[in-house]
Amino acid sequence: ARSVHQIQSGQVIVDLCSVAKELVENSLDAGATTIEVRFKNNGLDLIEVQDNGSGISPDNYENVDDAAFRSALKHYTSKLSSYEDLTSLHTFGFRGEALSSLCALADFHITTAQAHQAPRANRLEFEISGKLRKTQIVAGQKGTTASVEGIFKRLPVRRRELEKNIKREYGKVLNLLHAYACISTDVKFSVRNTVGKTKNVVVFSTNGNRTTKENITNVYGAKTLSALIPLELELEYEPSGPMRHLGGGGQSHQLVIKGHISRPVFGEGRQTPDRQMFFVNSRPCGLPQIAKAFNEVYKSFNVSQSPFIFADFQMDTNAYDVNVSPDKRTILLHDAGALIESLKVSL
Ligand code: ADP
Ligand code: MG
Repeated sequence: ARSVHQIQSGQVIVDLCSVAKELVENSLDAGATTIEVRFKNNGLDLIEVQDNGSGISPDNYENVDDAAFRSALKHYTSKLSSYEDLTSLHTFGFRGEALSSLCALADFHITTAQAHQAPRANRLEFEISGKLRKTQIVAGQKGTTASVEGIFKRLPVRRRELEKNIKREYGKVLNLLHAYACISTDVKFSVRNTVGKTKNVVVFSTNGNRTTKENITNVYGAKTLSALIPLELELEYEPSGPMRHLGGGGQSHQLVIKGHISRPVFGEGRQTPDRQMFFVNSRPCGLPQIAKAFNEVYKSFNVSQSPFIFADFQMDTNAYDVNVSPDKRTILLHDAGALIESLKVSL
């Protein structure tokens, strides 16, 4: 049986990207159709995510981050109803751990209202331990705003490290947010940043489009889109190695890859931006081996530049494992070798 150990982990929040990821996934889980991410000083002073989702039920306030309650119940999360759920994730979050980690790493507060409470909302403040310190009635519409101020302020070494690399880290967060914005159809997504006197500048936004294509146009521009062609592949590959004995009794895996990819431009010539986004069942994730396979195929046809790739791998939940890294960003594909061979042939 999958044990509690599997969902226990030390570090959910390791960098700026994990903060943005956890907050945005909570908003998506809450059914938000509008999500605004606000940075101050590229995230060093503030990362704040506002949504118009379900809001948090007052019954859950104590539970959001109450360490005592959580340890009594082991990792509380309102999204996990049974351990079986771990093998078939329908929502992004399932640890009930992200927000409590944030309390230890920064000043964290939430303002939240369910539909029937608006225009009254509750502002929740938490102790370092994650315990609810204070609630206060404030004005607010339906939805949730989660604010993370002074990330890593209690870990001076990590804070200095982040300050030193903030340009690069901020770039990484933007790439991740691009991916969420592009894959999230019917969600109006916007990102703003305040640096010095340039206040609340819109970094990018989407319009709540029905298609990923329109989202890509909003994020990367019509010019990028015009260089793309639809990507639609159906793959079948055989399980191999030790995993064969686990899922499906040796049945072959089936997989659909949907998205958009650069039109190959052969030889020297026009170049498309080097932007590559991968998703597994609409969850943004890094798939370095897969990226390598795409790039190799393009290269083998003498295509000068690595392609723009937006690829959603729609596959059986038992064909991969999201629990390998605490922050769930690394996904382990079972039978990756067979998958990649099959992918290269199809491409
Ligand atoms: P998880 O997402 O794994 O359940 P989190 O620590 O990220 O754990 O969040 C704890 C709980 O707080 C969630 O299960 C959910 O009930 C509530 N929550 C957090 N963010 C939001 C949000 N933006 N909208 C509604 N509920 C939220
Ligand atoms: Mg979560």
